[in-house]
Amino acid sequence: EVKRSLNFIEQIIEEDLKSGYRKEELKFRFPPEPNGYLHIGHASSICLNFGLGEKYNAPVNLRFDDTNPIKEESEYVDAIKRDVEWLGFKWAKECYASDYFQQLYDWAVELITSGDAYVDSQASEEIADQKGTPTEPGKESPYRNRSVEENVELFEKMKNGETPEGAHVLRAKINMASPNMIMRDPVMYRCVHKSHHRTNDEWKIYPMYDWAHGESDFIESISHSFCTLEFLPHRELYNWFIEKISNPNDFKPKQREFARRNLSHTVVSKRKLLQLVQKGIVTSWDDPRMPTISGLRRRGYTPASIRNFAESIGVGKRENIIDVAHLEFCVREDLNKTAPRVMGVLDPVKLVITNYEEGKEEWLDAENNPEDENAGFRKVPFSREIYIEREDFKESANRKFFRLTLGKEVRLKNAYIIKGEEVIKDDNDNILEVHCTYDPKSKSGSGTEESLRKVKGTLHWVSVKHAFQAEIRLYDRLFSEEVPDADKERDFVDVINPDSLKVITGFLEPGLKDAEVLNHVQFQRIGYFCVDKDSTDEKKVFNRTVTLRDSWTK
Ligand code: ATP
Ligand code: MG
Ligand code: MG
Repeated sequence: EVKRSLNFIEQIIEEDLKSGYRKEELKFRFPPEPNGYLHIGHASSICLNFGLGEKYNAPVNLRFDDTNPIKEESEYVDAIKRDVEWLGFKWAKECYASDYFQQLYDWAVELITSGDAYVDSQASEEIADQKGTPTEPGKESPYRNRSVEENVELFEKMKNGETPEGAHVLRAKINMASPNMIMRDPVMYRCVHKSHHRTNDEWKIYPMYDWAHGESDFIESISHSFCTLEFLPHRELYNWFIEKISNPNDFKPKQREFARRNLSHTVVSKRKLLQLVQKGIVTSWDDPRMPTISGLRRRGYTPASIRNFAESIGVGKRENIIDVAHLEFCVREDLNKTAPRVMGVLDPVKLVITNYEEGKEEWLDAENNPEDENAGFRKVPFSREIYIEREDFKESANRKFFRLTLGKEVRLKNAYIIKGEEVIKDDNDNILEVHCTYDPKSKSGSGTEESLRKVKGTLHWVSVKHAFQAEIRLYDRLFSEEVPDADKERDFVDVINPDSLKVITGFLEPGLKDAEVLNHVQFQRIGYFCVDKDSTDEKKVFNRTVTLRDSWTK
């Protein structure tokens, strides 16, 4: 493990441990709202919270913040669990804010009774108009001084669905002149007559985020509740509510904030990602171009690469945009260690070895991974006709072209040294075949003097007769702009990269017929690929995870 200095979140915890917290009291949570699939931004929060759990040997709850039935679905709950597990984390308890609806309701009645909450019967626009501005105090609602009895009665009617949606809300009675706008009598409950994915039709009122989050933390005895920076002004309200519902000696959770992480050439917002799915710009939440965890997994990202990415960008106090090239670097680094090397030709031209016996075939030894001495060797078939990449041949080229030209030698990976002899073209000057001769004594690994001869350039290839055809999906960045949603005047959907997906047929070494979904490979000299779930017995599909080198140009 790499030693690094403590980040500011760890410093907060260390200071708390010094000033009286017991280690056994540490407890964290990751609190997704099940209104979409998790994305790479969430990965930062997951790695932060579960990372702290590992570091301090403390429990971490997975809490679904499911307080809004309008946007939430159990499909999302399942996807979130799958993704957190896949990243390699184990939660202590699976919790749902909706499990606390009754407790929250009871506490709300207590707040009404103590004069700390009231039912407001104004429309939401009116309430918004009365909020004031940061420099001007707001206006008090005409319903602010309703009697406790009336409030209790109305609140119960709201709960039973006896009042229409929008007729009333429950508000905390705090201070309409507070310099913190969040404290100006925030809404605690609204009437929503919609089925909830877990409580079904039991509730006709639903708590707002501020009135559920801290209370859920309190119920679960979370010690540190980490959220993103936009909640900083909510901290005062978080504490106010907890003061109201707790006793002085109760252990109280603490909200602290860290900066949201953004990634270049994409959007990290469930709402915007949902639009991409709904408009059919991508095929699904797990489309390999999506910055969702499930999309990255399908694209060929590994859990280690995502965890390393999150760890390397760390936690910060200032929002910033991480270049997607850094994420790509992290997956290359991981796959370089683990992905078996294979040969595949994506843009083939036929090469005929004129002095190689017709009908003969040899099975040559090929090293699976030079980075892993335990990875062993496999056999690849070689014959008189092979495919090489079209761009690996030029009739004549300058001295810097270390690939095949007429009259020059190159090595075929794991095979022989060949020399370009002749090119066969059609009437339109398109190359149909390249003819060459080989040096039979130059076989790789044979130890002969000829096999040790140095030639500039080594090419990958596949035997025509043995080649296995597969669909290759070449993915690229989904957006052509670095920050697609930077300009509020422009719809982020308008800066989609038109070349984000190109589908071609590849010619692969036959062993790849057995590759299974999510298997990772390196097509030598090309990039990392993984088997897509769309593969069938008849047709394998490979997704390009990332090219071998960063080749993006704006
Ligand atoms: P979105 O706008 O995509 O819906 P959210 O913050 O509303 O994001 P939640 O499901 O509420 O999504 O997020 C769960 C946790 O993940 C929260 O603690 C949130 O602060 C954190 N989180 C969400 N997005 C990011 C991000 N881009 N970087 C870091 N943490 C994030
Ligand atoms: Mg949220
Ligand atoms: Mg959200």
